[in-house]
Amino acid sequence: MVENTAPRKAEKLLAVKGMNDILPPESARWESLEATVRELMARYAYRNIRTPILEHTALFVRGIGEVTDIVEKEMYSFEDRADKHGQAEHLTMRPESTASVVRAVIENNLLYDGGKRLYYMGPMFRREKPQRGRYRQFHQIGAEVLGFAGPEVDAELILLASALWKAIGLTDVRLELNSLGQAAERAQHRTQLIAHFEKHADKLDEEARRRLHSNPLRILDTKNPAMKDVVESAPRLLDFLGAESLAHFSGLKAILDANGIAYTINPRLVRGLDYYNLTVFEFVTDRLGSQGTVCAGGRYDDLIVQIGGKAAPAVGWALGIERVLELLKEQGTPMSAPAPDAYAVIPDATSMPVALRTLQQLRDVGVRVQMHASTAEGLGSFKAQFKKADASGAAFALVFGADELARGEVTVKSLRDGSGVQVTQPLAQAAQWASSLQSNA
Ligand code: ATP
Ligand code: MG
Repeated sequence: MVENTAPRKAEKLLAVKGMNDILPPESARWESLEATVRELMARYAYRNIRTPILEHTALFVRGIGEVTDIVEKEMYSFEDRADKHGQAEHLTMRPESTASVVRAVIENNLLYDGGKRLYYMGPMFRREKPQRGRYRQFHQIGAEVLGFAGPEVDAELILLASALWKAIGLTDVRLELNSLGQAAERAQHRTQLIAHFEKHADKLDEEARRRLHSNPLRILDTKNPAMKDVVESAPRLLDFLGAESLAHFSGLKAILDANGIAYTINPRLVRGLDYYNLTVFEFVTDRLGSQGTVCAGGRYDDLIVQIGGKAAPAVGWALGIERVLELLKEQGTPMSAPAPDAYAVIPDATSMPVALRTLQQLRDVGVRVQMHASTAEGLGSFKAQFKKADASGAAFALVFGADELARGEVTVKSLRDGSGVQVTQPLAQAAQWASSLQSNA
């Protein structure tokens, strides 16, 4: 028997279910969205905050609420290794960022000199059933405004989100709006809501029955079509609001009206936790099935106290990056893949030192250059290199042939206009002709 001495291929390792690689060229869409967001946030004077991925589990239990999908069944939690006293901490990978931002604001006393406008971007983790628009690692962009009580910041946040849709060309979203009033108003509504659901107990699904007394408001948020009627005929929280709550709501609507922002009032739009109050809103689409909420936000004036801080009003939103990009794709919005300005054709390895020095000079002044490099088969023929140059999408090939280098020159050949025009340029003054590579791109 002949022994096989070739190395055995190891078993392939795959990414964790529901957690995706974001690869080129798709990653260009991500970068472009992120760049637009940064620019937009600066225009609205929102500043970036970055909090850790891991937090104490207790933060989310308190900050999101025990009777929620997230805390009941979606969190990635674990017990850390014990320290030298045998104490182990319960940690959770953040399922959202509002609780973390509030913790950071309290811990660092950020409100000492007045309100703050903050934004973040990053990965969140929820153990949900993966499907289109619903992943286990997904990404959010969020904006949180702390320390301001008036409806004008609620409006500012909505205007900011609308400006983002406009900037990225997203047209298929509509704004839904509601007001949750204040705790006393919700308590009155709650009694009648429970009575209504008890009267129609036969029409409730198991989850709704379970939440009937712990979190009846959340039943309004059901995704079960069989409960549509019983939910639509339920008493409306809006009808229980007093003058102050209504004034806040009208204040918001007046600003949106003056800015031409269309919205519909959705009385079933709720958040099931007591620290949410007044404004709630969502940007929704019909084009992503039951993953139709692209961006969700609202006021949470009582959360800071819940997390141990000194009372301060707050309002914010979070959008799902995957859903926004999915919707852009669904709309057929084209993506411009970033091609290099030039591709360096280097027929001979001995030319590498000179070639790379020149490329560095070009890159130093902002030219995007892709360098040809050797594979296991070597550098490849002149023709093969030109094929690669073409495929790269570059507008020019820079040819570092031995003859050119001997003359202290490089040949610049146009790849895009069909003319095949080529000129020679001095190696010594790369910075001086660098711009000719960019302006023609
Ligand atoms: P849903 O009702 O779709 O489960 P949610 O109410 O749990 O959403 P939020 O906690 O309000 O969502 O998060 C804000 C946004 O983050 C959502 O509107 C959505 O765009 C996005 N999002 C939430 N969960 C996921 C997920 N598992 N995968 C991808 N995006 C998500
Ligand atoms: Mg969810």
